[in-house]
Amino acid sequence: MKAEIIAVGTELLLGQILNTNAQYLSRELAAMGIDVYFQTVVGDNMGRLQHAIELASERADILLLTGGIGPTQDDLTKDALAAVLGRELHIDAAAMEQVEEFFVSRGRDMTENNRRQALVIEGCTPLPNETGLAVGVAIAQDGKFYIVLPGPPKEMKPMFDRQAKPWLQQHALTDEMPIYSRMLKFAGIGESLLEDKLLDLIQAQSDPTIAPYAKEGEVSVRLSTKAASEAEAEKKLEAMEAKIQERLPGHIYANTDMPIEQKIVEIMSERGLTLSAAESCTGGLLMESITAIPGSSAMFLGGFVCYSNEMKEKLLRVPRSLLEGEQAPGAVSREVAEALADQVRTITGSDFGLSVTGVAGPGDSEGKPAGLVYVGLAERGKDTEVFELRLGGNRESVRVRSVKTLLYRLWL
Ligand code: ATP
Ligand code: MG
Repeated sequence: MKAEIIAVGTELLLGQILNTNAQYLSRELAAMGIDVYFQTVVGDNMGRLQHAIELASERADILLLTGGIGPTQDDLTKDALAAVLGRELHIDAAAMEQVEEFFVSRGRDMTENNRRQALVIEGCTPLPNETGLAVGVAIAQDGKFYIVLPGPPKEMKPMFDRQAKPWLQQHALTDEMPIYSRMLKFAGIGESLLEDKLLDLIQAQSDPTIAPYAKEGEVSVRLSTKAASEAEAEKKLEAMEAKIQERLPGHIYANTDMPIEQKIVEIMSERGLTLSAAESCTGGLLMESITAIPGSSAMFLGGFVCYSNEMKEKLLRVPRSLLEGEQAPGAVSREVAEALADQVRTITGSDFGLSVTGVAGPGDSEGKPAGLVYVGLAERGKDTEVFELRLGGNRESVRVRSVKTLLYRLWL
C-alpha cells in the first residue's frame, strides 16, 4: 500500500506555518507499514486542490488530506474531494448537533457558515472530531481510500489515531497483518553511539525493524513488527529488546514512550524520595519539566532560580569567595554547581538536590565558552557529584539538553 499526504493551506506555502501534520502522518504511516512516496502541499484554491487530489490518486492507494475543513469560504477540502469523486456533500446530523451544542453552551449565536463544519461526502464514514468542531471524512472509491482530517494538530492527531487509523486498518489493510511497535527510551547515550552499536540490526531491517529517533536531548528507538496476534508480536519485541539491552546495558529507562522526567517522578514517588533544584542558566526549565508531570507533588519539594551571583549567595548561601575575585572559580564552575546542589538539598530537606550552572550562549561569558555547563547531583548521605557538559547548539538547545542530561544522570 502506498499513501500520499496532501496538506492544504496557503499559510503553508507562504512559510507562515510548518507542515508538522505531514511529519506526524508520515511517521504514523511508516509504523503501519504503509509507504509514503509523495507529500504534497497545496493552497486554498479549488482548481489546484482538485488537481492535487487527481494526481495523488494516480500514484497512491491512500490519500490523507489535512486542513481546510473549517467554517470559512477558503476551507474547500471537502468540496474539492467531493467534486473529484463526483459525489454530493450533505450535512451530517450528528456533527451538526455537536456544532449547535457548542454555540448554545457558549451562549453565542451560530453564524450560518458554521454549518459547513458538519458537511460530509455522500456515502462516507464521518470521523467525529473529539477536540474541535469540523467533522472528518473517510471514504473508499474505485479501490482508493480517502481520508480528510482537520488542520489544527490538536484536532488532527486524535482524529487520525482514534478514527482514521482503525478505519484504514479495517478497510484498506485487510490483507496485511497488523503492525505492533514498542518505543525504547535511552538515558546516558548519544544518538551516534547508539546507532553505531545497533548499526548491523538497523541496516539488516531485521524483524522487528529498528528505527532510531533523536529529538532535542532525547534518544529513542522504535521496534516494529508484523504479527498475526498481539502475543506473537510481544514475543518478538521482547526478544529484540533483550538483544538491545545486552548491547547497551543499563541505558534503557523505559519501554513505552515517556520522557525521562516522567520516569523520575514515577520512581521517586514509588520509593518515597523527594527532590529539589537550584537553577541558574536554565531559569526554571528543570522545575517546569518536573512539575509538568501529574503526580510530581508527591516527590518534588521546590527550588530556586538563582540567576545572578547575588541570588546564589543570598538564597543558596554560596560563599562569595567562590563567585567573585581573582582566585574565584566563578559562577560557572564545578565548585558552584556542587555548592548549589548541596545547599538546595539541605535548605529544603529533600533526599536529592539538583543544580545547573552554565553558559547558555550565544557567546562566551566570564571567559567561559557557550555550551559549558556544570550540573550537580547531591544525595543524602553520599558525596555530591558534578558533571561537566560541553554542549553544542543554540541557547534553547543548551538549556533543554542540560536539563535532560541531569535527569538522565539522576536516573542512572
Ligand atoms: P479551522 O477550523 O481552524 O479553520 P481547518 O481544518 O480549516 O481548521 P486550516 O484552516 O487549514 O484547518 O488550518 C488551521 C490551523 O491549523 C492553521 O492556522 C495551523 O495553525 C494549523 N495547521 C493547518 N495545517 C497544518 C499542517 N499541515 N501542519 C501543522 N499545522 C497545520
Ligand atoms: Mg480553516
